[in-house]
Amino acid sequence: MALLCWDLYSGISSELLLRLQDGWSCPQCTFINEPTRPGCEACCADRPSDYEVPVGYLPSEAEQTRLDRERALEQVAVRIYVSQKNVHLFIFQITLSKINRF
Ligand SMILES: [Zn+2]
Repeated sequence: MALLCWDLYSGISSELLLRLQDGWSCPQCTFINEPTRPGCEACCADRPSDYEVPVGYLPSEAEQTRLDRERALEQVAVRIYVSQKNVHLFIFQITLSKINRF
């Protein structure tokens, strides 16, 4: 009943309320974050290392969009890292071939 009253007065939907209950509380500012957030949405503090996303937790549509975006950025970062590594390897091979000429 208390939950229902809080819903009525705060304007927060029951779905959002359940999501917040699954989330983690920021140790720095106490903001309740979505379970999958790696850092606090309000102050950027790291998620507590002992927090685990509840088993069976289904992210909201907005949360899933953020996760997809983070995954895509990770893939771009890996591609940049690999291409830089290849450039360094290429420069090393050119240098080595020049050294071998002498
Ligand atoms: Zn915080």
